[in-house]
Amino acid sequence: MINELLAKAEQKLELSREDLISLLSIEDPVQLQRLFAIADSIRQEYVGDEIHLRGLVEFSNYCRKNCFYCGLRQSNRLLSRYRMELDEILDTVELAQALGYKTVVLQSGEDTFYSLDQLIGLVRQIKKRNKLAVTLSIGELPRHYYEQLFAAGADRYLLRFETSNPDLYARLHPDSRFGHRMLILRWLKEIGYEVGSGSMIGLPGQSIEDIANDILAFKTLDIDMIGVGPYISHPDTPLGGEPDGNLAMTLKVIALTRIVTKDTNIPATTALATLKPDDGREMALESGANILMPNTTPVKYRPMYALYPDKVCIGEASNQCWHCTQHRIASIGRRLGLGAGMSPHKSISPSM
Ligand code: SF4
Repeated sequence: MINELLAKAEQKLELSREDLISLLSIEDPVQLQRLFAIADSIRQEYVGDEIHLRGLVEFSNYCRKNCFYCGLRQSNRLLSRYRMELDEILDTVELAQALGYKTVVLQSGEDTFYSLDQLIGLVRQIKKRNKLAVTLSIGELPRHYYEQLFAAGADRYLLRFETSNPDLYARLHPDSRFGHRMLILRWLKEIGYEVGSGSMIGLPGQSIEDIANDILAFKTLDIDMIGVGPYISHPDTPLGGEPDGNLAMTLKVIALTRIVTKDTNIPATTALATLKPDDGREMALESGANILMPNTTPVKYRPMYALYPDKVCIGEASNQCWHCTQHRIASIGRRLGLGAGMSPHKSISPSM
């Protein structure tokens, strides 16, 4: 049965929800390796051997929300908070470009401190001074914000749905609505962004059926970049003490996401490195992933951007992360992407 499904995946035939549930249940090491090899071959055929880097700038850890799994949640009084000045963000972005990055990801909690005009000015300045694709990951905003930030030059927007199960979503997000998040993902596509989303594997209360539905949702929503990472329990949240997600299941989801969506961009997430620091990200890159997101946030802020505990690359300067990343890419026989790594799925050029 599993071997037949693996053959179906290899022939690139459409996989049903039941097929995905069976493949997510694989435990036999030989079948598991075959699944990863199929995903790796589809990755090579559709998006090639290049690994594209996204320089991550975590510019504020303030958040107005209280997602149950997240260390940045507003009610976490144990976290020291910071906000970078606009000039400091610009300097950090310029350093990333000088190192060789072709994309920066500006990420924060849902922080209402920065006005729309300030954010527009920031995007405009970055696009004027640099040749970079700009990704924003700053949460839920009114539609006209997304429109004006796109008009200012932002190329991509990341907004993960974390789980496609509306009931589980409601239990984890006391101040967000599942239907509204899905609506925003549709807005972003309509406006013209390259859209990133993703899910968390091993969330308390999540079933294997939920995970199969997540994979199908990536395809239905026509997502261009798909981040899949393990749930990692943060002690200062309501879910503190729950078991972490597991590496093998996360890799299976990455592999099946590649097999189902084929030409999307899929990062090897940093959370994987927390579960397996030596080679967790390399394992993902050999199971269907093609993107890395090294941290370019000034080192003094990094320990405070504590979405989850034991994040890797907290103490290394940005140039160390750059060189470490080159080494990791070479170690698995792949090569650094030279362009902005826009999604072949969307096939547009960044506005540089
Ligand atoms: S997941 Fe995002 S929106 Fe939710 S608390 Fe964390 S930073 Fe805020």
